[in-house]
Amino acid sequence: MRLGIDLGGSKIELVALDECGKVLLRRRRPTPRGSYRETVAAVGKLVAAAERELGQRGSVGVGIPGAESAVDGTVKNANSTWLIAHALRDDLQTLLQREVRLANDANCFALSEATDGAAEGAETVFGVILGTGVGGGIVVRQRVLEGANRIAGEWGHNPLPLPDEEILPPPPCYCGRCGCIETWLSGPALAADHLRHGGEALIAPQIASRASHGDTACEATLQRYERRLAKALAMVVNILDPDAIVLGGGLSNIDRLYRSVPQLWRRYIFSDVVQTRLLRNSHGDSSGVRGAAWLWNAA
Ligand SMILES: [Zn+2]
Repeated sequence: MRLGIDLGGSKIELVALDECGKVLLRRRRPTPRGSYRETVAAVGKLVAAAERELGQRGSVGVGIPGAESAVDGTVKNANSTWLIAHALRDDLQTLLQREVRLANDANCFALSEATDGAAEGAETVFGVILGTGVGGGIVVRQRVLEGANRIAGEWGHNPLPLPDEEILPPPPCYCGRCGCIETWLSGPALAADHLRHGGEALIAPQIASRASHGDTACEATLQRYERRLAKALAMVVNILDPDAIVLGGGLSNIDRLYRSVPQLWRRYIFSDVVQTRLLRNSHGDSSGVRGAAWLWNAA
């Protein structure tokens, strides 16, 4: 049995999978925000309760909104800031009395979709989260590619390439730089772009919905979004050349992206034919927690 835990900023979710990926049990509880000690204890309680209920012991994989430092193993880059600088993996291993695998939540998303999701069977998969933020993860032959600095796939903080249509100064990013992909392609970025071009204050799903009903300003905003997404993904294709790119997060629900973006990215990809598939995720919000469980799918 594999236990996956998605340690989010607002909730901690646990799933127990059998070897075929069937869900045996699913539990969630609010994250004790601000307290590292209570967060670790909450994970311990969820695991203990699940194992008691199912009458068996499982492997434990944990997805976190950050990464482990390659230097000392402490958590970095986490927007759940109370996790930062703590040796989370060590503390969980001590508490749970077993080896624990830890990975970035976007890596878990990519692993879930590459293992038994939309990109099942694809050799190289780039998983993208387009939500409140923008993240990415790389999976090769069903193994997460972590990288020397544990940041492989962290695509959201590259600058948007080829900003040919941008006359405005690039938006500032929380990371300290300007014009990061995240500042163009997250949900809040789409809403901000609509405002910047004289549109109403709308959230991303409203803009997509109005565009589909013929609103010309929303349609123009969505077209700018699609061009930017195509450019940003083309850069990934030119470097990694993945077999499949899977989209997750709230904006992955915009149906037209799967038709428009592959038409647009051709002009930016250095190849005569482009066979890369752009796919919608199949596990939705469950992909993070399933991917955490699949961290133990390889020896
Ligand atoms: Zn940034």
